[in-house]
Parts: sequence; structure tokens; C-alpha cells
Amino acid sequence: EDTINKIAAGEVIDRPASVVKELVENSIDAEATSITIDIKNGGKSLISVIDNGYGIMRDDLPYLFERHATSKINSIEDLMNIRTLGFRGEAMSSIVAVADIELESQSKDDSIGSRIIINSGRIIDKKEISTSIGTIVKVKNLFKNTPARLKFLKSDKTELNYITDIVEKIALSNSHIAIKYIVDDKIIFHTPGNGDLLSVIQCIFGTKTAKMMLPVDYSNQSLSIHGFTSKPELSKGNSNYIIFAINNRVVKNNMLKEAVKTAYRTLLMNNRYPISILNISINPKVIDVNVHPTKAEIKFADNKSVFNLIYYSISQVLNNSNM
Ligand code: ADP
Ligand code: MG
Repeated sequence: EDTINKIAAGEVIDRPASVVKELVENSIDAEATSITIDIKNGGKSLISVIDNGYGIMRDDLPYLFERHATSKINSIEDLMNIRTLGFRGEAMSSIVAVADIELESQSKDDSIGSRIIINSGRIIDKKEISTSIGTIVKVKNLFKNTPARLKFLKSDKTELNYITDIVEKIALSNSHIAIKYIVDDKIIFHTPGNGDLLSVIQCIFGTKTAKMMLPVDYSNQSLSIHGFTSKPELSKGNSNYIIFAINNRVVKNNMLKEAVKTAYRTLLMNNRYPISILNISINPKVIDVNVHPTKAEIKFADNKSVFNLIYYSISQVLNNSNM
């Protein structure tokens, strides 16, 4: 059973960045409006995520770390209609299988909060505390009991790059959440959380880049695309900055990237690596997020029309910008 958990954990949690992703997604699912992410030594010595979401009910705490413990799916109907980022109930059980955890939470529906410390899968302390509504999760000593995984980790700097990449993408896809990102005691960025994507772009990429961005706003009956794409003269070295979120979920999808690149290429007769931050809203029924446990990949019922709409909306914006 312990082994099975560790193997299963390896699928969801393969490096510090995946812990960060899962914890922050839980905060978002808990409707947090403010999230603080604190990282030490590339996440190897500390990953801390603090949110002001609705918190964890005291009665749910004992089950939180069991596999398939999720409060987000009650029926098949729910599964077809996923609006939360999590739904498998695998992250917390996976993290606890490979790291030490300290968790504090106070639910909006309880009068008192709880604090629990779990080391090597064993509860070593549990008590009632009074705290503010929300959740604090601290993850320490990642992979200490799985030496093979520990050895596979790269330098602190490289692991931090993976984390920063995820935190940036989450911040860009959730401009309505104030995200504070702290690395080795230094604040890297703090987004305002007022829904203004351009100010998030400014926080992350700087004022100069923010001034190079053109707004993208398209919608029809089936989907809408909102965001920013860079002026034609800006080109990064790779397509890492073409970022998509679908219903506020950061997704990987090469078809979508290709649509953006094709729009630039067609117009400029030249390859460009723009910065494009595009948030797509679409009926969850026409997408399938269930492709991979980390849910980063996504499939559409109708690929071709989504490609065309992205291509079309980016082309429009580029055409209208006076070049
Ligand atoms: P999932 O997100 O797929 O439901 P997880 O293993 O990530 O599964 O989390 C298990 C459960 O723990 C969630 O369904 C939720 O009820 C609770 N939970 C975890 N983190 C938080 C949080 N920050 N705020 C509120 N509830 C949380
Ligand atoms: Mg989750």
C-alpha cells in the first residue's frame, strides 16, 4: 500500500514545481483572492503556500491525505462539468507520501482552525488553533524517502526555473487573484489581483514589455478569447511565452501555439516568438481535461475551429496595429 502510494505519487509529483502547481491550484479552487508562494532552495527545503480561500473543514482533515479524497466531485454529472482545477483527489495524498507537511486551515464554516504535522506519512502533531480563514501548507524535505527521485532533481536554480515558470503562468491566467511570489526571502513579484491582466504582465515582464502588448478580445456564441499579444517587432528566442489558459486553467497545447505563430508568420513572412497571454473561455463540455493526471494537456471536440478562431483573432489584432 505504501509502495503503491509512492509510485502513484511519482506520477503527479515529480519535482518541486509540481508540488507548487498542485498547492496553488487547490488555493484557486478554494476561491482564494490572495495567495502567497514562498520558496527556499528551489523548493527542496521549503515550499509554502498561503491562501485566504474557504479553508478545510475540520471534519475533512483526517481524510485529506487519503487517495481519491476530493471534495470537488460528487457525481458523474460533476465530472462532465469540471470547473475546479482539481478533481482526482491525488495531490495531497501524493505529497504526503513523498514529503513532510505542515498544514493549518480554518474553514469559513468552523469556529476554530486546525494544525496538523505529518512526517514520513505519520501524524506527529494535531491540534486546534485559532487562525484566519484560509489555508497554509508547508512542504519540507521533498523526496527524502525516495532517493531515486531526489537524485533525479536538478540544481536549485533549475528547479526554481520550473517553479517560476508555473507561478508566472498561473498569475497570468488568474489576474483576479493577488499572487505574491517570494524566493529565498526576496519578493519576486506581487500582482494586484484586480483583474487587470496588463498589470500582471507588467509585474512579471516589466513596464517596457507591457507597453508592447496589444489587446486581444474576441467572442462568439461558443467561446471567447481575451488577453494580450505582443507587437510584431517583439520576438523572444522561443515559444515559451505563448501562454494559454482555458477557463483559468493553464494548459499546454501545441495546436494553439501553432495558431498564434502562424498568424505572425503569415503576416510578417517571418518566424516570430511573440509574448501572447490568451485566456479562453469555453463550455467545459466541449473540452477534455482528463487526458493526463496533471491535467496540463487538453483536447477539444473540434480542434480545427479553435485553431481558426485563434489564428483569426490574432491576425485581426496584428492587422489593425499600425505597423
Ligand atoms: P483535488 O484537488 O483533486 O480535490 P487534492 O488532493 O489536491 O485533490 O486535495 C484534496 C482535498 O483537500 C480537496 O478536494 C479540498 O477539499 C481540500 N483542500 C486541499 N487544499 C485546500 C485549500 N488550500 N483550501 C481548501 N481546501 C483544500
Ligand atoms: Mg488539487
